[in-house]
Amino acid sequence: MSETETSHDDKSCVPADSPTLDNSSSCTQMEHVSLAPLSRVAICGGTHGNEMTGVYIVKEMQRKKVKAAGSLYVTPVLTNPRAVEVCRRYTDKDLNRCFTDALLSSPVTDSAPYELRRAQELNAQLGPKGGKEAVDLLVDLHNTTANMGLCLIFYSLDWLTLHLLKYMQNKISSVPVRAIQLDIPLSDAYSLEVVGKHGFAIEVGPQPHGVLRADIFNVAKKAVDLTLEFIQEFNAGRTFEGGEVEAFTLVKSIDYPRDSSGEITAAIHPELQDNDFQLLRSGDPLFLSFSGETVIHEGEDLYPFFINECAYYEKKVAFQLARKTTYSFPSVSVEKD
Ligand SMILES: [Zn+2]
Repeated sequence: MSETETSHDDKSCVPADSPTLDNSSSCTQMEHVSLAPLSRVAICGGTHGNEMTGVYIVKEMQRKKVKAAGSLYVTPVLTNPRAVEVCRRYTDKDLNRCFTDALLSSPVTDSAPYELRRAQELNAQLGPKGGKEAVDLLVDLHNTTANMGLCLIFYSLDWLTLHLLKYMQNKISSVPVRAIQLDIPLSDAYSLEVVGKHGFAIEVGPQPHGVLRADIFNVAKKAVDLTLEFIQEFNAGRTFEGGEVEAFTLVKSIDYPRDSSGEITAAIHPELQDNDFQLLRSGDPLFLSFSGETVIHEGEDLYPFFINECAYYEKKVAFQLARKTTYSFPSVSVEKD
């Protein structure tokens, strides 16, 4: 038996929109960077209607009529209300795969999938993606059934996001705080957070979908509060010192072993289950077949994550594999006019 791979392009991690990026960990002090102030922040939940932490953080903010945090205008948005209503990931189509340039500009009729129409509404409300009128920061709240702690997921290596990651790592000790980078061009970037000028998803787990756990809720709420606190301090003129962070860059997704009719023939191996972000070496177990055989990892040492994520069975993904890179980032402060 062998693992089945879905390959992602294995390109360099240097994003197009960070011209001064230096991904060597041994670089000398980077030059200070001034960034525009952030005045509008969207806190989104329910993009997947059964990921309960974001649903209830947003509902609570709406109930309390949260509209501001100090200098910031804050908009809490329940992004997929129909899916939330029926407590399902989505009704017609995964909303968090609808924010590519192609789908956002495709003509829609009343018979188009609900989530496609909803993506275009959200792009009009919070974007447009890549446009001057877009919210300054979009944070989208998700849950995973995998044992991943708190992860910030993003596309390009945005200085502001790397600073926020470091800020959270310094202030959250109850769970590991990590970063996952999806090395995909912005035009093909498919998830909601790309609609903002800056944006990331906050992924917290393990939590079963359709279930609320107070410990997971508190971690996500803390991450939202720290985000708003960081932005207010940034807008007020504080200088945040440069440093280094690690990020996990997606390399490929691995499917379950299957028979000729496409039926799964093995489960995640007990030695892999719950060991997200623990280095997988050649020979380490991946799957345990229903007849008792162990399927092992072969090739490059990589880091597994989203191990046994419930929602990824339909996507034929048993887990994903990443490479770990250390990134340097410069000191930043708000630009003065
Ligand atoms: Zn989700």
